[in-house]
Amino acid sequence: MPNLEQYQKLKKQLDAQGVALVAISKTKPKEDILSFYEQGQRIFGENRAQEMAEKSADLPKDIEWHFVGHLQRNKVKYIIESVALLHSGDSPRLIKEVNKEARKIDRTVELLLQFKIAKEDSKYGLGLEQARSFLSSEAFQKMENIRLRGVMGMATFTDDTEQVRAEFKKLKNLFEEIKTTFFAAQEDFNIVSMGMSGDYPIAIEEGSTMVRIGSLLFGARD
Ligand SMILES: *Cc1c(COP(=O)(O)O)cnc(C)c1O
Repeated sequence: MPNLEQYQKLKKQLDAQGVALVAISKTKPKEDILSFYEQGQRIFGENRAQEMAEKSADLPKDIEWHFVGHLQRNKVKYIIESVALLHSGDSPRLIKEVNKEARKIDRTVELLLQFKIAKEDSKYGLGLEQARSFLSSEAFQKMENIRLRGVMGMATFTDDTEQVRAEFKKLKNLFEEIKTTFFAAQEDFNIVSMGMSGDYPIAIEEGSTMVRIGSLLFGARD
């Protein structure tokens, strides 16, 4: 069940801190999305390509759709028209494919570099050296249909708040380093996407500019 009271409280707090809210609506029905839309929410996040394509086709056109899950290259085509920000730029090969599909429809797609900051093996993401070599490459320089806007990461799922804090700190440092080295002249390389329902207060303390919140707003997922 959508928790509208929670939404108002959270939104007010985030606005005061200058932090953007992505309402993560994956697996949830369109009616639930509309109830937050009616409260003024415009940014929603999904992690399945076909699900986002379907929801974006049916829901109001002024919704900004963010894609937050690992995206297989053969599914890029499903999201290329609707995506406003791809949080999960987690490999050079995927980013290259996004550029190629964006070019076909003559648009520029904004995306974040997803870094692996958690200890868990299952999490996708780039390492610093991999990102450096990609950003230095001629192949990247030639990608005219993507625009990098910042970084994204997920902390380890643990009760150890000091570990979570250390991982968010690491992402913030990676952001600063990459910004200084590669994007010093690009003012809108300014997004640090970190923090979910269970850890967003720590993420904000560590410099998050955009949180991705699902279950706290929509209720638990099956
Ligand atoms: C599901 C998901 C979220 C939201 O998780 P909650 O714990 O429900 O807030 C945030 N980011 C990503 C990448 C997700 O897949």
